[in-house]
Amino acid sequence: MENLQSILLPGVSHNRPLVIAGPCSAETPEQVLSTAKQLAENGIKIFRSGIWKPRTKPGGFEGVGVIGLEWLKEVKKETGMYVATEVANRDHVQAALAADVDILWIGARTSANPFAMQEIADSLKGVDVPVLVKNPVNPDLELWIGAIERIYNAGIRRLGAIHRGFSTYGKHLYRNLPQWHIPIELHRRIPELPILCDPSHIGGKRELVAPISQQAMDMGFDGLIVESHCDPDCAWSDKSQQVLPEVLNFMLNTLVIRDTKQTTENLTLLRQQIDRIDNELLEILNKRMRVSREIGQYKKEHSMQIVQTGRYDDILKSRIAQAVDMGMSGDFMRDVLQAIHEESVRQQIEVLNDRAK
Ligand code: PEP
Ligand code: MN
Repeated sequence: MENLQSILLPGVSHNRPLVIAGPCSAETPEQVLSTAKQLAENGIKIFRSGIWKPRTKPGGFEGVGVIGLEWLKEVKKETGMYVATEVANRDHVQAALAADVDILWIGARTSANPFAMQEIADSLKGVDVPVLVKNPVNPDLELWIGAIERIYNAGIRRLGAIHRGFSTYGKHLYRNLPQWHIPIELHRRIPELPILCDPSHIGGKRELVAPISQQAMDMGFDGLIVESHCDPDCAWSDKSQQVLPEVLNFMLNTLVIRDTKQTTENLTLLRQQIDRIDNELLEILNKRMRVSREIGQYKKEHSMQIVQTGRYDDILKSRIAQAVDMGMSGDFMRDVLQAIHEESVRQQIEVLNDRAK
């Protein structure tokens, strides 16, 4: 696969990871320039900053608008960095291109909306600019691929994806659940498409930026887009997830970049072990489903309802506690149990409808 940097910015020297960094939002000319200068001093070559901010609720800071594009021009002039910003409609695209923005990205709320994506794609026809498409807020790989396809069909070839996690209801360790299998499946489906990870929006907290970045590197992601601010505690948006430029630099220096293509004999042996364990897992799951079907039969004969929430809550609580004791994450175990429960219910419904094999 061609290197991300040579795809997005031909001629720029490259090493994995490609790093894009900068504040969530442009706030003032001073904040933009001071952050950019500190990042540039730390070796960052691509500066990010939101100008138009899609906020969950009205009344929040919605971005400084087109004036911020002037500040990005200043960043280019003063630091020689490339600049990137988020676009969500035709006007944004036109204004950003007119201001010589080097890379455009499409946010998670926009990539979830095919009308907005088509409008953006139409406004990019005949233009040669790198475009990065964030995953939609909901975990829908087809919607993500559809958004990417619209941009590709408009003629854009310098194209990449950004994994920023998926919205969820309730309190979790992550702000947006990583659901790593989704970007991994995207990579399987479109192997030549570079993928960056956005640890800031996945984690939502400073202390998660480094571990998530490491995980992304271990999984072979091409790059990172990280929120960094000259005074994170005073940021006008996403302050709990932004890091100082020097902290970002420290984190990047401590990242371990492993050769993702390396396959040693040991690795082969370990993979064989995983294959065997997966087989055992499947056998055990199948055994569990058979018992579920028997329970379904019992419920049918006694006219009982299939989903009994009290029982399900007990299962969740005890198994999650057990998993945490064993060193696994509670969120992970909840996801596994939910998936197993859904399949059990589906099997019991089959029994109810007399379609069980
Ligand atoms: C951002 O990058 O600041 C942003 C708004 O991200 P997302 O679209 O991933 O929420
Ligand atoms: Mn943000």
